[in-house]
Amino acid sequence: MLNVVPIPILNDNYIWTIIHGKKTVVIDPGLSDPVLKYHQKYNLELTAILITHHHHDHIGGIDGIINQHNVPVYAPYHEKFNFKYHQVQENSKIQLFDNTLEFSVIEVPGHTLEHIIYHGNKLLFCGDTLFSFGCGRIFEGTYRQMYDSLRKFKSIDPDSKVYCTHEYTLKNLEFLKNYFKDNTFYEKKYQNLSKSMITLPSLLKDELESNPFLNSSYDEFKKLREAKDLF
Ligand SMILES: [Zn+2]
Repeated sequence: MLNVVPIPILNDNYIWTIIHGKKTVVIDPGLSDPVLKYHQKYNLELTAILITHHHHDHIGGIDGIINQHNVPVYAPYHEKFNFKYHQVQENSKIQLFDNTLEFSVIEVPGHTLEHIIYHGNKLLFCGDTLFSFGCGRIFEGTYRQMYDSLRKFKSIDPDSKVYCTHEYTLKNLEFLKNYFKDNTFYEKKYQNLSKSMITLPSLLKDELESNPFLNSSYDEFKKLREAKDLF
């Protein structure tokens, strides 16, 4: 049995924690203290850290954690990384929990150039590339790169649960309500989801169907992303 729980940090980040028995894997620990405390509180054993990209709110906790837990860190190559890590790239496989879970790595440049996502066992950890009803801001790549990266989600098992790093769903829906003025779908979604504390994970199938960042033409995508940047 695999459970995935969020450790909320900062304004709207989640450090997703996969739990198998008493063992765990954490993804993108932006801070160390909340992770260490969580493991102490529930008597859990951390076994690995996965990193999607180099932004500080995704890696800031690594040093503090590996000072206390000597566990492997998996990350894409980045010249700024000064911690010890196993470098992974497109199609790398990572075995976790004594081979109970295998993740494949998919490269998705756009938000940053080295950004990767992890997929396996109907779990998808997508960092800051895909958000529920949105996508990441394009900081380092081009619109074309981000568009091509988002198209890669179409070949992932649609029954996968989508674990994004930020709670942006309602903000994204606000934007879509405003952008697609005659569309009541986003208004309804907004009303439904505004009652929940946590809107994640979402389901990839639903994102493929109703997230316009995933199912638009390139020109539509670019317009949408530019409008979102100014929203
Ligand atoms: Zn980021």
